[in-house]
Amino acid sequence: MTPPSDIVLAADAAPSVAAPTVLLSDRLREPWQIALSQAVRTRSELLSLLNLENHERVPPPRVARDFPLLVPRSYVHRIRPGDPDDPLFRQVWAAASEDSSVNGFTEDAVGDEAARLGPGILQKYRGRALLVTTGACAIHCRYCFRRHYPYSEEPRQLADWEPALQLLAADPTIMEVLLSGGDPLTIPDRRLSELLDRLDAIPHLQRVRIHTRLPVVLPERVTTALIDRLVSGRLQPVVVIHANHSQELQFDAADAIRRLSQPVTVLNQAVLLRGVNDSVEALVELSERLMSLRVLPYYLHQLDRVTGAAEFEVPVEVGKELISELHRRLPGYLVPRYVQEVPGAPHKVPISLAVSSLSDDTP
Ligand code: SF4
Repeated sequence: MTPPSDIVLAADAAPSVAAPTVLLSDRLREPWQIALSQAVRTRSELLSLLNLENHERVPPPRVARDFPLLVPRSYVHRIRPGDPDDPLFRQVWAAASEDSSVNGFTEDAVGDEAARLGPGILQKYRGRALLVTTGACAIHCRYCFRRHYPYSEEPRQLADWEPALQLLAADPTIMEVLLSGGDPLTIPDRRLSELLDRLDAIPHLQRVRIHTRLPVVLPERVTTALIDRLVSGRLQPVVVIHANHSQELQFDAADAIRRLSQPVTVLNQAVLLRGVNDSVEALVELSERLMSLRVLPYYLHQLDRVTGAAEFEVPVEVGKELISELHRRLPGYLVPRYVQEVPGAPHKVPISLAVSSLSDDTP
C-alpha cells in the first residue's frame, strides 16, 4: 500500500507506540483520534501483548514495508492471548508467505484502474459511483484488496474533489454514492461533513453508502456527533461494516455497532478467509452475532486475488458447501450472499450453491 495520502490529517498517525509523533495536541483531538495514534505498530509489541513472544522470530515479509502492522488496542483486547491461530490475530499478522508470487494473484485484483472515471472516483456498476476518500485505515488487514492501490494519486483536500463532484452532478443516473478507501471514517468529522454537504446538494443522489471497518476495529469512532451527522443529512445513510468473525463483535465494538444500527441501516460484508472463518460454526456464529446487533449479513466475498493474500484463499467449492450448510441451519435472511468481484462484470457475481444442497435430507 502506498502510504495513505491524508493519514496525518485523518488519523494523526504515529510511527511507533513507544515514541509517538504527536502532530496535534491531545487536547485538540477526538478520543478516537488519540486511540488511533496509540494503535500497535510493531510486531514485537503485538507479540508481547499477546504472550506470543516465542512466535515466528523471523523478519517481516518485504511487502510489509509498504503495508506495515497496524492494530488498534481495542482490537488487540479481542484477540485470545497465547494463540497464534486466533482468527483475529491471523488477519493482522504478516506471514512470510506474503512475499511469494502466486499465479493469478495481482496488484489490481478487482479492476479498480479500469473503473476509474477521474481523480478519486470509480464506477463499476450502473446507478452507483464510488469515491476513494482516503488511503488511511485503522487496521491493516493482510488480505486487503486495495493494499496496492495508488492512494497518493487521489484527492486530498475538499477542493481536489471538485472534478469528482462535477462528474457525479453531471450524471443523473447515479442515485447512490459509496464512500470507500482506505476507510472513510478515518476522516475527521469536519472534513467528512463538508464532503457529505456537497453530496447532499446533488439532487439526483438518494443514498450515501459508507464502507467502513472502524465500528469493528476502532469503536471509539462511533460518536454521537458522527451518528447525528449521518442521520441529519438529506441522503439516506447506509453503513456497510466489515466483520469476519463473531469474536470481533465483542465488548466496546458490540456497544458501538448497536448504537449505530438503531438509527442507521447497517449491513455487514465479510470475506471468506482460510483459518479465520472457513467453517460452518464460525459463519453461523457470525450471522447470529450480527443479527443480535441489528446488522444483516449482506455479503460473503470470495477472496479477491490480490498479491500477498494467497494464504487466505478458500477454494470456491468449499465456500459453496459452507453456504449450503448455512441454508440448512439459518433463516434465509441470515445467510449472506456468496459473491465474487469479477473485473468488468456489471455487478457482484453470485456464486451458485453446491448441487449437493439440492438433495437435502434434513427435515
Ligand atoms: S480496513 Fe478495509 S481497506 Fe483498510 S486494510 Fe482492512 S480491508 Fe483494507
